[in-house]
Order: sequence, then C-alpha cells, then structure tokens
Amino acid sequence: MRMSDAGADPAAVLTARIARKVYRSARSEPVEAVRDLAFAIAPGEVVCLIGPSGAGKTTTLRILLGLDRDYEGSVEPDPRGGAGIGMVFQDPRLLPWRTVEQNVRLALPRERRGRDLDALFEHLALTPWRGRFPGALSLGMQRRVALARALADDPRLLILDEPFVSLDDAAAASLRGLVVDTVDRLGMSVLMVTHNVAEALEIADRLLLLSPRPASLVATVPLALPRRERGRAFAEATRRDLARLYPGVIAD
Ligand code: ADP
Ligand code: MG
Repeated sequence: MRMSDAGADPAAVLTARIARKVYRSARSEPVEAVRDLAFAIAPGEVVCLIGPSGAGKTTTLRILLGLDRDYEGSVEPDPRGGAGIGMVFQDPRLLPWRTVEQNVRLALPRERRGRDLDALFEHLALTPWRGRFPGALSLGMQRRVALARALADDPRLLILDEPFVSLDDAAAASLRGLVVDTVDRLGMSVLMVTHNVAEALEIADRLLLLSPRPASLVATVPLALPRRERGRAFAEATRRDLARLYPGVIAD
C-alpha cells in the first residue's frame, strides 16, 4: 500500500496518518520525531515497522495508542474509544506486588475481569506461574506475562514494541515462536516494532521501513511467501536485498 492509499480501505483495523510529531520543551531544541508516516493495517495482517534506534518508532506507537495526542495527523478508529488494541511495551511494566494472574486480570475491563483465562495461560505456558510474583520471573517470562495481558481481552490488533530485545537467543526464539503461533491461532492483526530484520522476516506479511529520525516511510515491502515456508535461505537473501536497496535503514 502506498502512502496515498492509506485510509482508502474501510476494512482496515487501523489507519494512521502522522504528518508531523515534534517534541517541544522549554529547556531544549524541538525534536522532530515523525514526519509523513502513513499506513493502514488490514484484518489478520502482520506488519513490522523497522527502523534504526531513535528513529521515532515508540513515539509512533504511543500516538497509535492514544497516549500522545500532541501531533499533526489522524488515527482511525479513535484509540480513545476502546479500539481493541492490546499492547506489549518494551519494558514489561508488571506490578511487582501483584501475582502474574492479577497482573493479567487487572488489564481487563471490570465486567470481564473474572473471565476464564485457562486457555490463554496454558497456551503461553504460564499455568504454573499464575500465582507467582513478577520478581520471581526471568525477563523472557515477564514478557510472556505482558503478552498474556495484551491478549486477555481478545484484541483486534496486537502491538508489540521490540518484544525480543535484551533476551538471550533461546528466550527470544521461544517468545517469537509463541507470538507467531498466537497470531496463526487467533488471527488478529499485529503491528510489531523492531530494528531486527531477521526477526521481522520470520513473522511479517509486510515490512514498513522507516528512515532515521524523523521517522518517515522509506518503503513498503510485502512478503508473499507464507511464514511456514520461509527458511534461513529466504531470510538471508531477503535481508541482503533489502540492505542493498535501503542501506540507510538496514545495515549489512
Ligand atoms: P525509537 O523507538 O525509534 O528508538 P523514540 O520514538 O523513542 O525512538 O524516540 C525518537 C526521538 O524522540 C529520539 O530522538 C528521542 O530522544 C526523542 N524523544 C522521545 N521521547 C521524547 C520526549 N518525551 N521528549 C523529548 N524527546 C523525546
Ligand atoms: Mg523505541
């Protein structure tokens, strides 16, 4: 989808048009974090937002979530209206004095707080940890709890901000497998931010490549090959092609 098409599809789960986001403060120069970034996410589609560190990716997600209203542009549907978005922040942000189960339930609207979450905990292999406190868990496990929390209310769109950073390879691979599996099983749309191309190539239906700050759209890359059929060779060849085409975004 080209920028000019964004918003043309009424079936999109999310349509964002961010013309400009500038951080202003009395003490320092203004920082322009996003410029001309427009995209839409289709039902069931997995989109990865790839850009260098400091580009403006987290800023973009905060706008999509309605946490930052100070920007030029629009996000539809209005994120304040309970848009059915589940969010996994980079930092798991669990309440340390609440159990794993309470952390997940507290994210639910009051009327659904008592719902049956057995299948969710089971799927994420968290069943034995339901009564434990976050402090007893590894970072990988805490991220899994954050994922459970984001999924608890059956979101239409799952947004993940660099969910695999700071994990060792095994923990990252296991969490990545869970995300892929969850997406295949539940079929929601996903928007995942990463600066790791290999990771994106395992998961995405489409890549959105962002420039260094201010984040703007450099290219949209559809990946037609089904996830299951992608192997190492596909990932390496695609990564090489992308690095050649977009050297400013993707390092060799
Ligand atoms: P990314 O997630 O791509 O690494 P961010 O969106 O966190 O990047 O940040 C983009 C730019 O905006 C960075 O230069 C960062 O320092 C700046 N920035 C982020 N948050 C704020 C803020 N609250 N006030 C001022 N500048 C900010
Ligand atoms: Mg970030």
